[in-house]
Amino acid sequence: MAKQTVLIIGAGPGGLATAMRLAKTGYDVHIYEAEAVPGGRMRGFSKDGYHFDTGPSILQVPRVYEELFSFCGLRFDDYVTLLRVDPNTRLKFWDKSIIDLTSDLDAFKTQLAARRADLPERFDAWYSEHIRKNDAGYAPYLGTPVRSILGYLNPREIITALTFRPWESLYDHYFNYFQDEQLCYAMAYPSKYLGMHPKKSASVFSLVSWLEFNDGIWHPKGGFTALSRGLAKAATDLGVSIHYNTPVARVLTSQNRVRGIRLENGTEVSAEIVVTNADFGYALNHILTPEQRGPYTNRKLDSMRFSCSTFMLYLGVNKTYPDAPHHQLYLSEHIRSTEPPYVDDSALDTTDPSFYVCNPTMLDPGNAPDGHSTIFVLVPIPNTSHGVDWNEHKQAYRDYIISRLHELGYGDISDHIVSETCYVADTWQNEFRTHIGAVFNLGHDWGQLGPLRPHIRADWLPGLYFVGGAVHPGSGLLTILESAKSSVHFISQDHAVTTA
Ligand SMILES: Cc1cc2nc3c(=O)[nH]c(=O)nc-3n(C[C@H](O)[C@H](O)[C@H](O)COP(=O)(O)OP(=O)(O)OC[C@H]3O[C@@H](n4cnc5c(N)ncnc54)[C@H](O)[C@@H]3O)c2cc1C
Repeated sequence: MAKQTVLIIGAGPGGLATAMRLAKTGYDVHIYEAEAVPGGRMRGFSKDGYHFDTGPSILQVPRVYEELFSFCGLRFDDYVTLLRVDPNTRLKFWDKSIIDLTSDLDAFKTQLAARRADLPERFDAWYSEHIRKNDAGYAPYLGTPVRSILGYLNPREIITALTFRPWESLYDHYFNYFQDEQLCYAMAYPSKYLGMHPKKSASVFSLVSWLEFNDGIWHPKGGFTALSRGLAKAATDLGVSIHYNTPVARVLTSQNRVRGIRLENGTEVSAEIVVTNADFGYALNHILTPEQRGPYTNRKLDSMRFSCSTFMLYLGVNKTYPDAPHHQLYLSEHIRSTEPPYVDDSALDTTDPSFYVCNPTMLDPGNAPDGHSTIFVLVPIPNTSHGVDWNEHKQAYRDYIISRLHELGYGDISDHIVSETCYVADTWQNEFRTHIGAVFNLGHDWGQLGPLRPHIRADWLPGLYFVGGAVHPGSGLLTILESAKSSVHFISQDHAVTTA
């Protein structure tokens, strides 16, 4: 009997990791990718002799990558070399004070002691609590396929959930420990790359901060493009066929079961199992027909809460910034506001936006000519549902952001820019096929987590699965790799492997 065929739409990190696991499990796997290269939001690009990462710049918890490769009988180190970043991230505040988040806990506690004498002890208590939370929460919840709500309603699980104090926001969680506003924002900064304000983000994400302290932050040598290529090479080595430049137009169904896909070139490919790694909202609107969308009608989609988008400057500059940390975040005083537009990025902040600058060349000089560097600037902006006209605002906003970079030590950068590329919300929507340009996908409030997030298995259409940032457990690379593991669990349960 021939192997069962699985068709995956998209070679983003979720699609690639799923393909690797499925191939190892014994399926015949084909990925159809619209673009010429793998990686999706982390596909990267080269221009004018510089190489730029487009999306992720922070790699957490290397063991999830090691575990993926080891499941597949491969060694991660043979495909990707990770470099440790230290400090993890520098936070610079509105009043010019600085907090360096670092996995060197003694160094971190020295900074805390300088802020207030009792903070090191409070940090130790927070850290110990998270060792317990990690044991109680990571494997059973983040690293395990989601169940129905009923599956969680038993006394043992309810007691575990209560230890996470789910009624608290991430900010409140930290405030209970530290009563130091800036420290709370510093510790809660991962909520920004979940696309959320710390006062709106669920407190469960304190585990992500702890994982950063405990496991460090890493950078793939050659950038995240090298990670994309490493995942694609591993998939290919495992027998996966990746069809580039091959956009998928439709999922095909008959008698309410999946029977394959139709490519944009008109070719039809048959299979009983289709996994879509294309952005969830995009897939609903462009790949699935209204009959195939189950509960995710237009009305439902409009009621779901999506992340902000990002304004990006990818700058090739003819100098280096040896003293600028790899990851730096400027936190404007606007973060203190719980009012729109600051709490929800519903309008462009043209007076004092928070922003992030990545300076990867000091750790990984191969991305620029000798003596030059690549600089990556990210500013949270409204997604396209808020209607900013970027034809009107792009140049002025670019000039304004360049004028703000002095906050993080790049005051002279405008004299040194050799290459420049700018992305706005429309770029993410149109060139990366991302619903409303919401780069961090669905928001991570309690109403869109765990069993309340879209499920990997489309219960209404046998044979259809979703993998990537919209499904459980969430939208970062770490959680997407966990979703890939879960997707293989559901597919194997529904379609047991058959081999020749
Ligand atoms: C600016 C930015 C910064 C980020 N920073 C971080 C970070 O530091 N750390 C972190 O962990 N995460 C970060 N993220 C989030 C992370 O990058 C994304 O969540 C992740 O890359 C999404 O992966 P995915 O597998 O869900 O899908 P995607 O990367 O969106 O991949 C989907 C793939 O499907 C393809 N596709 C779409 N439609 C079709 C079609 N019709 N036919 C064929 N193929 C199709 C697309 O071309 C794409 O290759 C960041 C994201 C952005 C944009």
